[in-house]
Amino acid sequence: MKLILLGAPGAGKGTQAEILSKKLQIPAISTGNILRAAMKNGTPVGLQAKAYVESGKLVPDDVIIGIIEERLAEPDCANGYILDGVPRTIAQAEALEARGIAIDAALSLEISDDVIIERMSGRRTCKDCSATFHVVSNPPKTEGKCDFCGGELTIRKDDAPETVKARLATYHEQTEPLKAFYEARGKLVLAENQPTIAETTQVIEKALGI
Ligand code: AMP
Repeated sequence: MKLILLGAPGAGKGTQAEILSKKLQIPAISTGNILRAAMKNGTPVGLQAKAYVESGKLVPDDVIIGIIEERLAEPDCANGYILDGVPRTIAQAEALEARGIAIDAALSLEISDDVIIERMSGRRTCKDCSATFHVVSNPPKTEGKCDFCGGELTIRKDDAPETVKARLATYHEQTEPLKAFYEARGKLVLAENQPTIAETTQVIEKALGI
């Protein structure tokens, strides 16, 4: 299964990508996580990306295409993958197509901006392993600590309310047109966000027939 997850920032793509990854035994690849790791390690890509990520803007397409090409060449991608947060522009989608990177479905997780703004304010991210939690809908077992690695949970800089609004505007302008792009190719599948993570997973699995 080669799957793209589309949806606004905060729609729950990362959470659902991890769940699907375990179920389907294929890697979930998040360019956001790759960029955050690069920023933390101060690599050239990280230094290039920092100002864009922290202000809620998209990192230039050529940087992203380089990252994703390298990642998809890894052996664990041979049987499929879930792309979380990439492609995010028509240019990125065209670049994947031009490189023969095929997909079975582009699943769009549908959610309103209001729900997202409310939700993002409760999101917490592990500073060591990038796992995400939510103070209400998915709280860690111990407050402020990651369930998986014990790392400190922090609020991502780009989850600040003003940045969330900028990221939503970027989404509507640059990423939402991908729905029409994949619809034209017969690949678009819609799944409506639900109040809980488990219900959303059910809707996604039904939509994908898995
Ligand atoms: P995410 O964790 O997917 O919400 O990504 C966090 C930030 O990383 C985004 O707001 C962008 O600044 C950057 N980013 C992640 N993926 C992409 C992409 N495919 N294209 C451009 N920028 C990206």
